Amino acid sequence: MPISASKFEPSAIVEMLTASDPASAAPLTLDQPLTDVPGLGAVRAKACARLEIFTVGDLLAHFPRRYEDRRQFENFPTQPGERPVCVCGVVVGTQTKRFGRGRTLFEATLQEPSGHALAARLVVRWFNLFYVQKTVAHGQRLVVYGKPKARGRDIVIDHPEFEILEGNPEAEEEERLVHLRRITPIYATTEGLSQRVLRRLIYQTLQRVELDKLDTPLPRTLDPWPRGVALQWIHFPADESELRAARQHLVLTEFFALQLVIAARRAQSTAQLGENHAGHGALLEKFLASLPFPLTAAQARAITEIRADLAAPRPMNRLLQGDVGAGKTLVALAAMLLCVEAGFQAALMAPTQILAEQHFLVFRRWLEPLGVRLALRTGARREETLGGDFAEFFQGAPPQIYVGTHALLFDKNPPPRLGLAVIDEQHKFGVLQRAALAQSGGQRAAPDVLVMTATPIPRTLAITVYGDLDVSVLDELPVGRGKVITGVRPESKLPDAAAFLRAQLDAGRQAYIVYPLVEESDKLGPATKAATARFEHWRTLLAPHRTALLHGRVPPDEKDAIMQQFRAGDIRALVATTVIEVGIDVKNASVMLIENAERFGLAQLHQLRGRIGRGEHKSYCVLITGEEATPEAMEKLRVLEETSDGFKIAEADLRLRGPGDLLGTAQSGLPPLKLGNLIDDAELMKTARAAAREIFARDPELAAAENQRFRRYLVESRKLLLAQVS
Ligand code: ADP
Ligand code: MG
Repeated sequence: MPISASKFEPSAIVEMLTASDPASAAPLTLDQPLTDVPGLGAVRAKACARLEIFTVGDLLAHFPRRYEDRRQFENFPTQPGERPVCVCGVVVGTQTKRFGRGRTLFEATLQEPSGHALAARLVVRWFNLFYVQKTVAHGQRLVVYGKPKARGRDIVIDHPEFEILEGNPEAEEEERLVHLRRITPIYATTEGLSQRVLRRLIYQTLQRVELDKLDTPLPRTLDPWPRGVALQWIHFPADESELRAARQHLVLTEFFALQLVIAARRAQSTAQLGENHAGHGALLEKFLASLPFPLTAAQARAITEIRADLAAPRPMNRLLQGDVGAGKTLVALAAMLLCVEAGFQAALMAPTQILAEQHFLVFRRWLEPLGVRLALRTGARREETLGGDFAEFFQGAPPQIYVGTHALLFDKNPPPRLGLAVIDEQHKFGVLQRAALAQSGGQRAAPDVLVMTATPIPRTLAITVYGDLDVSVLDELPVGRGKVITGVRPESKLPDAAAFLRAQLDAGRQAYIVYPLVEESDKLGPATKAATARFEHWRTLLAPHRTALLHGRVPPDEKDAIMQQFRAGDIRALVATTVIEVGIDVKNASVMLIENAERFGLAQLHQLRGRIGRGEHKSYCVLITGEEATPEAMEKLRVLEETSDGFKIAEADLRLRGPGDLLGTAQSGLPPLKLGNLIDDAELMKTARAAAREIFARDPELAAAENQRFRRYLVESRKLLLAQVS
């Protein structure tokens, strides 16, 4: 991109803007604290601190959250619409209406500045905003931004964002340069720092920084033009093409910093010493032969990939991704058996006690005939009763496979030679826990690590979040699964749904009834029907079938007892919160009813739904929406009626909610993105990733002189990352 140097030559006007300031001669550097910026008082510095702006660099990295095209204002709207409009008008009248209990409605009537008596009018209104009443006055010129609505025959904008233009001639130049007649940046602001003050501050600061001397974190091959230009253009672009170019450069910079961290992690782990953790496979063969079903092709493929990794002399870092019910546990167990046969121990860490116990019970049934020694580590008392008689069976010999929760990390007798660490439902754990489990054994070489997730992560995200991992995908469900039929119903249909559920119990099936929260929460409003509050209702309704309540605060012993009875079919229905979300596997359960379904994300609902349809029975998932569910919310849920493809659902969820929610912001281990969008900017992410990998491929230690500058960004991003994970 050609850059004309003239962009940086202080024009006469810029001189005028800064001339009044004696300190303007000394250029500012990005590291300087804001307090060094001339003319910025303590009060404003404090306001800036609230926006996490502490240095000159922070200020310039406070990117606009949107722009208004004020080169040519739109005509006043004559129709209501979903698209916000940005218009400029003169205040020709104001009016305050008062209601009971101190409530007020303030209206200002705007006229298009043409001066025509017949010019169009627009009413803008604010409710209960005393500050606006005091600021907006007759004769002012106002820029307003908001969605036009119809009120009777008028068009009004309620609670627009607005800015009062200054009328005095001295301000004219500044108006033209900074605030008006241009593509104007709109920032996130805070109390004590108005839009205009902040905009002026950023404008002036840009003049005082030697933009052409800023170094660029990007490798020159990626994008050779200077960061300073991008900073200037992202705040004050002359036109759309400058804005686009600047944004692209800065997003690439942001992504590149992220990918450097990931590439560094990857380089570090491949440099580690590993060992061959794969046995000959006789034990695995024996195990597979004992199964009542054949492997799916996807499972067989995943096992082959993992086996090669186990045998390789570098540590495995692999993600096993597969939709709920795809049979990940079996793949994990196959890997663990190969490891055991090679003379090492293997450990599997699950996010909850219930899940750990379920894995333990399944493993136990499968492994007992093979004589493989198994131990449970959950930190709960029940561990002994569950595992005890089994331990007797192998007469004090050390375990070969450990199954547990976080308690595994704190075990007093860690496995002496851990060869493989498996982490189930990776999205429930942080990046650091993954590392901790890998380091928990007594071995010298690094163990192999396999992480499993049922959250179908769209590719764009996978290469960011799991960029340092290799991926195996189970893209196929075992045959003979019952179909899950999903329906979205309004709350008024609840009695019908309940009757249907009961009929299923009568027919011998089991059911889950799910609520978003354990207890009523003020934040979510009194309409939330908590599992606890509704339990009695269901118990009576479903009697004589036995119903139990299960949520996070049920004591572990009781929880176990309930799960055991549910698995055995003595308890027929569970009224539960999302504690049943992951991994629970009861084939006879064929109905799930979820109340206030609109409060869940799509991916989470899909996970929940994965609890049913596990056996041969046709299964039913009923999503009941609460009274306050919007039509859009109900529409969103239709995605689940239409598809059971986890990837499609995850994509839809990602669009609706953003990546933070999908993965749990803290768990994602991603530094927060300021500008980039993981979906729309996916191409840039790929470019950044390739560039970062190339650097590490050539120089894994970043030893070369020309790579020194990348170290700094690595240290900074790492700090961010750690701050997030801890
Ligand atoms: P997830 O991938 O959700 O963790 P699980 O590992 O819990 O799935 O497997 C779900 C169910 O499918 C389990 O009951 C498991 O025994 C069964 N299963 C696994 N693999 C197969 C297969 N190849 N054929 C039939 N059933 C299978
Ligand atoms: Mg599972």
